[in-house]
Amino acid sequence: MLLVKRHPVERDSRDSLQIQLQELKQQLRARTRELHQKEEELQHLFYMISHELRTPISAIRGFTSILLEDGSELPAESADYLQRIHKNVDRLEKIVNDLGLLSRLNINENLFEVINLQELISDILIGSYDHIRSGQVTVSIQPDLPPAYGYREGLHHVFSNLILNAIKYRKRAQPVQIDIGCLQDEFFLKYYVRDNGIGIPSAYRKSIFDMFVRAGNVKKVNGSGLGLYIVRRIIQAHGGEIWVESRVGRGSTFYFTLAKVP
Ligand code: ADP
Repeated sequence: MLLVKRHPVERDSRDSLQIQLQELKQQLRARTRELHQKEEELQHLFYMISHELRTPISAIRGFTSILLEDGSELPAESADYLQRIHKNVDRLEKIVNDLGLLSRLNINENLFEVINLQELISDILIGSYDHIRSGQVTVSIQPDLPPAYGYREGLHHVFSNLILNAIKYRKRAQPVQIDIGCLQDEFFLKYYVRDNGIGIPSAYRKSIFDMFVRAGNVKKVNGSGLGLYIVRRIIQAHGGEIWVESRVGRGSTFYFTLAKVP
């Protein structure tokens, strides 16, 4: 029998590598705990803000509604101001609802399942029928769109947000065309939602995924500026990434990656 005697120097360096590895693992565990704690604090903050803002917002809505209902005696200018207050209250309400949603967003792998995306997107389109009918919208879905592995409610939110944005930020007087598909390599699925809308100026293509950033590419569209921030958080919770490629006046393509179904 051949006995290989390990050199003492070799053994020492293996031991010290083991120690380093243990230390790194400990650091990683501590960092993960810290991150979870920060995440919980942030979600609590979102909850508190949305909770505290609900009452004053509904009071403003209530009183302006009363004034508008008795509006016959109001000067035209005052009625106009009241209408504007109402519109801003709509936006505040959307922000509060989105912050509430963020406070409940708690995605972990125990919630993951295989999702038939054809069905999921069909549900979204049926649910958004009013938007689709009013905007002359065609949605083309790649026939063999691969299933995703993830949190159903989260991915429903992602696709619905991207589709509704494609309709919201459309070019006036032109039918909306939305294409949904997937490119894949060995490890990842890269889904895309492409539109023929107004496009996004290059200065905003990264920051639109941050909180409250609106690209200013259209004036009168209501929104919270939180939609894509929520979408990015959902994708990141799946271990994926999201980005956009766009040409002003030509349209935008939102891409996001998800790991393949294990
Ligand atoms: P909002 O509530 O303002 O729609 P989002 O976070 O969903 O917030 O989007 C951020 C900004 O990105 C929007 O205000 C808009 O300027 C721009 N945007 C998002 N989607 C599109 C799109 N499909 N085409 C053009 N611009 C878009």
